[in-house]
This record gives sequence, C-alpha cells and structure tokens, in this order.
Amino acid sequence: MSNAGCRQPARRGKGPEACDADIQVDDRCPDTIEITIFVAALCRARPGWRRVPPLGTKPDTRTVTAMTSIRSIKGFKDILPGEAALWQSIEKTATEVLGAFGFREIRLPILEKTELFARSIGEATDIVEKEMYTFTDRSGDLLTLRPEATAAVVRAYLQHKIYAQDPVQKYYTIGPMFRRERPQKGRYRQFYQINAEIFGVGSPYADVQLIVMLVDLLERLGVTDAQPHVNSLGCPACRPDFRRALLDFLAAREERLCADCLRRRETNPLRILDCKVPGCREATRDAPALSRFLCAECRSHFDILQGALDALGIAYLIDNRLVRGLDYYSRTTFEIQTSALGAQSAVAGGGRYDGLMKTLGGPDIPATGFAIGFDRLAEIVAAGKGTEIPGPLVFIAALGAEAQARAFPWLAALNRSGIWADMLFEDKSLKSQMKRAGKLGARKVLIIGENELAANTGQLRDMTTREQVPVSLDRAVEELRRHLGADG
Ligand SMILES: [Zn+2]
Ligand SMILES: [Zn+2]
Repeated sequence: MSNAGCRQPARRGKGPEACDADIQVDDRCPDTIEITIFVAALCRARPGWRRVPPLGTKPDTRTVTAMTSIRSIKGFKDILPGEAALWQSIEKTATEVLGAFGFREIRLPILEKTELFARSIGEATDIVEKEMYTFTDRSGDLLTLRPEATAAVVRAYLQHKIYAQDPVQKYYTIGPMFRRERPQKGRYRQFYQINAEIFGVGSPYADVQLIVMLVDLLERLGVTDAQPHVNSLGCPACRPDFRRALLDFLAAREERLCADCLRRRETNPLRILDCKVPGCREATRDAPALSRFLCAECRSHFDILQGALDALGIAYLIDNRLVRGLDYYSRTTFEIQTSALGAQSAVAGGGRYDGLMKTLGGPDIPATGFAIGFDRLAEIVAAGKGTEIPGPLVFIAALGAEAQARAFPWLAALNRSGIWADMLFEDKSLKSQMKRAGKLGARKVLIIGENELAANTGQLRDMTTREQVPVSLDRAVEELRRHLGADG
C-alpha cells in the first residue's frame, strides 16, 4: 500500500458485494482491521473502486458514518445561479456577434493527448513544464486537461481533413481550460475562454476582423474603453535577425535578469520582453524593437493592418513588448486592454500562428485567432450590471388542498407556454406564501383561498403597486397570460 487514491479492484465486473473479497492481503497496511472497514465502506459508496488510504495514516472509521463536508478543489470555483445567468447573457451576446461575423461553433473534448500540447505550446514553456493537469489513464496513455483551445481546434481541422474540402474556416468555441497556476484573486485553475480562429487566410484583414469583432463584442457588453495593442512578430525569414540582436543586447545585462529570463534566453528569448519582473523590465527598457527588423512582406502586412484599423476609426497602440515565444507565431499579435476593473490589463489576446498546422503534422495553412478570458470578462460586466436574477412573472398562492389541485395544471400550462410561474407545493398560510413570493421576487401573485374558490374568482396582486384585479378561475390561464403579457 503506497499512495492515497482509488485503484481498480483486482476482480472487475463484480458488484459492491465483491469489495471485501477484493482487498488482497498484500494490499493491507499494519492497521488491518480498521482499513478493512474503511475500505469496504467506501467501496460500497462507489462500486467498482476501492479507496486506498495514504501510507502511515490511521484511518478514522467514524468519518465513514459521520460524513465530513467536502469542499471544491483549490483554484476551482462554482458558478452559482446568479452568476450563471450573467454568463449565459454574455454567451448569448458572444454567439450573436461571432455568428454575424461568420464564425461557427465547434465543440471539442476537454481531454487530449499530452503530446498535442507539448508540440503546440512547446515543451519549454511554463504551461507544459509546470501547469498542465497531466495523468496516465488506465491503458497507459498520457493525457492532459486542455490548458488552451487552439491546439485542439487545429487538431480537429487536421484530423477531419476539413482543409481538403475548404481550407477557409472560421470557428469559435466556448469552454473550460485547466492550468495549475498559483491561485490568486480572480485567477482559477479551471478557467473559461471564448476562442475564435480563422484558418486558411494569410491576409492581415483576417487579423483586423478578429480585432473589430472583439471591440464590437466588448462594446455590446458595456466595455467602452477597449483598446487594442498590436505588434508584428515578423516571420521565420526576418525574426532570426531580431533574435540575434536581442541576445547581443541582453549579453551585457545578464546579471539583471531573473532566473526565468536567464533560462528563456535559451528557449524563447522573445518572452524576456514581456517578463513582469521589474528588474527585467528595467534591463530591457532600451531593447531593440522588432518592428525595425521586419522583412518587406512583414512590413507590408503590418502596414495594411494598421491602415485597416485607421479606416475603421479604431484607436490602437503599437506595443513592441507584445511578444510570443514560439516559432510558429508570426506577424500580427494583439491584446485588448481595458481599465474597467481599475488597473489596465488584457481581457483578450491573440494573433497569427501561420506555422502551427505544420508543427502539428498538417499542410502549410495560415491561421489566426484569439482567446477571451471569460472569468475576467464576466467580472467586468458584473461590475457594471450586478448579478441579480429576475423573479417569476407570477406566483400562485393556492391555499388548501382543493385550491392546490386546481392551480397545479395552470402552473404547468404557464410553464409550458414559456412563462416563468411558480407556486409552493405545500399547504402553507397566505402569509408564508406571500413571503415566499417576495423572496423569489415574483412580479404578481394569484391568490386562491376558500372565498376565491367559492366566488370562482381569484385575486391577482401586483407586488409593486399592491393593486389587485379579479381573475376568473374558469379562464385562469388565459387571463393570467393577458395580464402578464400586458406589462411584458
Ligand atoms: Zn518577415
Ligand atoms: Zn524576467
């Protein structure tokens, strides 16, 4: 017995009753008896698996019966209904905007072969070296929870040979990514992104389209100060000259660089330019600018991009420090910054990665794309809006069994016609039913007690104005629809 964790039982395919038999003698630690009880109890809770407590721990068998509460994993968060409603509305706006620009949704697995990310993101990056959730599955395959989306979108495009029918494709995908970064406020280990990619177009207009789309989306979400920062990373023809010039420049400043940057000199020196350590920023203040090294084609590409942004009246900033380290990134790189949450920072980033298809074993097809940090975007939108959930349009306060039996079909009919109506499925007093309606934030309450049943007329009360109108119980659903429709 070595590690904590679940192990596949020696005899598979048996029900929970096989658990006790599954505990092999060689699997027991010196705390035999308690372990047996502990393991057997947990096995019953999860048939087909048995729990192996960590070496040297004396299991507390009481925890099996007196359950301790289980909390979520550090760095993972729940999106509760109030927030989820906001997320839905952001997703809705995003899919409308992306759809209008011709992007179609692609849905991909969150689990991929580790090799995909090792090859696309690069072995010598923090993400691949330290931050990926990687594990070996039962058949010995090395798998990783995706730390980003682009590699998987490219993988799918290549795997299904979509390029053979039509290389020009525009995709978007929304979903969770996983990185084991140091937890800090607003940063999660399961975080969400909206990704958009354009495949098969090398033109700078494709990059501009991505930037316009981001600015438009952010504007619609109430972010009015979105500012694109742009840069050109050159291409495999012109970048080596810049790299050499940068390394020459850094040679005299070695002692001022942080340990990470010293390592980056070997792996991807461009990343030294965006190191956040103050010493490194100071040391690279007068570093050569990549823009001075661009070849004629890269120069023209970058000029057209700027011209198109100017023509659209989008104010942007050329940022020489905006870099990406890997060879398959080329030409345009950009970030969208906002100061909506105080200090200015990026809410989205992207750029061109013309060399990635080839790196992943595909044909030489240009590509460009972006990722929006959904968690941060939601934070920004929430700061402007609040996350209140609207209440039901009507709450039916039915007092007594007869009223309940009569009202329940109305509730179902309203719900099925798309109207959010609610009621309490318990015979409670009028006071407590009104309290419930108030708590839910219901706009109106239909009251049906003994008197109302006798008169065959309910009372519809407006929760804001306190006004009441009679509602014929024979035509309750129609009348409710009319009253609720009247104020939208
Ligand atoms: Zn070039
Ligand atoms: Zn550094």
